[in-house]
Amino acid sequence: MPDPILIICPTCSTTNRVPHERLGAGGKCGRCGGALFDAHPVALGPVNFEAHLNKGGIPLLVDFWASWCGPCRQMAPTFEAAASQLEPYVRLGKVDTEAEQAIAARYAVRSIPTLILFRGGKELARQSGAMPAGSIVSWARQALNS
Ligand code: ZN
Repeated sequence: MPDPILIICPTCSTTNRVPHERLGAGGKCGRCGGALFDAHPVALGPVNFEAHLNKGGIPLLVDFWASWCGPCRQMAPTFEAAASQLEPYVRLGKVDTEAEQAIAARYAVRSIPTLILFRGGKELARQSGAMPAGSIVSWARQALNS
């Protein structure tokens, strides 16, 4: 991993340079002062999706969901919990497929919930269907290590 690592602020989408040894220390954004990691997935849309996907120096795990989707709502707390376990080495985000149809179409997301793990802007792994508690973290770590 390059040092410093580029971390996109979840609040203002500014690119922050964070030395590797300080990554786990809970840094703040140099522009807005917000926490760079707050154990919550980032709501992704046209403004910040590209930044987190292509500029950020850590992998991006995206939950494609919709408010009308029961399994999506059931999985939401599990995905939240996964954020606290995978940060700061993975950024977690959510794409509302109703509001952000262009992003969902770009990755041909046909069923929800779908999780896609990106690294370096490229799709690394994909999982469709709700995942039970605990398995999101192990699935992501396995994909990143393989
Ligand atoms: Zn910021």
